[in-house]
Amino acid sequence: MAQPLHRLVTGLLDRLRPTVYVDGCDVPDPPESPYRARLTLAPEQCLDDVELREREVVRGEMKTIYEIRCRCGKRWFNPRLENVQLCPRCGCAVLLNPPGTAMP
Ligand SMILES: [Zn+2]
Repeated sequence: MAQPLHRLVTGLLDRLRPTVYVDGCDVPDPPESPYRARLTLAPEQCLDDVELREREVVRGEMKTIYEIRCRCGKRWFNPRLENVQLCPRCGCAVLLNPPGTAMP
């Protein structure tokens, strides 16, 4: 049979067959996204005595806190990036550079 005719006949025969419905429960779940997959260890990484459990994912709050250290050794925290802070122990005015930048 010629290829186009064969395809036409097969297509017609397929249409005449009764439709087979699939139960949604039998369809496999879509593969987990990389984000979900990261929450569980790969099977070869799991230790036998480690109990596997699902983790709840929640939204958190992130805050930047600067740690300031005076020459006298006193250490304190400040939520804002400021150029000068007064040391609560020795009273010096402590000049500050943003983190990661060299002192002049
Ligand atoms: Zn000080």
